[in-house]
Amino acid sequence: MRAQVLICPTITLKAYGHLYCAPRRLHRYGSSSPSQFLNLNLSRFSGRLLTSFFSMFQSGAGSSGKKAMVENLKRYGVISSKRVAQVMEDLDRGLFVPAGSSAYVDTPVPIGYNATISAPHMHATCLQLLEDKLQPGMRALDVGSGTGYLTGCFALMVGAEGRVVGVDHIPELVDMSIKNIEKSVAASLLKKGYLSLHVGDGRKGWQEFAPYDAIHVGAAASEIPQPLLDQLKPGGRMVIPLGTYFQELKVIDKSEDGSIKAHTETSVRYVPLTSRDEQLGGF
Ligand code: SAH
Repeated sequence: MRAQVLICPTITLKAYGHLYCAPRRLHRYGSSSPSQFLNLNLSRFSGRLLTSFFSMFQSGAGSSGKKAMVENLKRYGVISSKRVAQVMEDLDRGLFVPAGSSAYVDTPVPIGYNATISAPHMHATCLQLLEDKLQPGMRALDVGSGTGYLTGCFALMVGAEGRVVGVDHIPELVDMSIKNIEKSVAASLLKKGYLSLHVGDGRKGWQEFAPYDAIHVGAAASEIPQPLLDQLKPGGRMVIPLGTYFQELKVIDKSEDGSIKAHTETSVRYVPLTSRDEQLGGF
């Protein structure tokens, strides 16, 4: 454990009884507390995470770094699905992180505007949880789409028969996510309109293509926004972090009769699902 902490290119914090790492350069636009920039599963992978930091940090950039990242996520039990492994190898995270940041290290990376691209193990966890609802031809909504990485994964998984929508309330991030996708293997899905990224308040969902088989929320809400529940298809699944300081990743299943079942997957730390002004003001 000690050796792994030493090589971690981040500051090490203690919370919830677990050690985990946060980016040292927290944000390029202002001073904020480290806790605002964590996008981590705090309860399940902390020990393994530090071990995977070790190997991921040592792995190179480019396709070998990407492959090593996925191999580590498989080795530590985060990824068990072949489709999830494949999509995370196909869509290069290196195209979605700011230049000069470590694309394949298991840590969130600041992307400006008080937001982060989630850590690879969080992307993998959410893809695993939603995999059944990301079959070819299905519909998915990504609220708080940020860099567009997860939105792109969804699009590759549901393919040209499906429909994927990403919504973020920061116009600059939406522009950036479109440019990222245009450089990636998901470019043709964007060009042909099977994937679209929009500026909007994600708490309202995106009615145009509802109902959705899968809804992912990439920022923590204090309660589940009703429009998102309404836009979830019967038989569909939503993954949403809930809470303020103490947050839990909730899995919400809507049965065919419309009734809702929820369970807690794990403890996490996400940036808040909030108004644009509050986010840009630093919460
Ligand atoms: N999942 C993304 C980004 C996660 S950061 C990625 O991994 O790249 C959370 C994102 O939620 C930020 O981009 C932030 O701008 C967005 N966000 C927060 N509140 C929002 C709201 N009310 N509507 C839309 N997007 C929101």
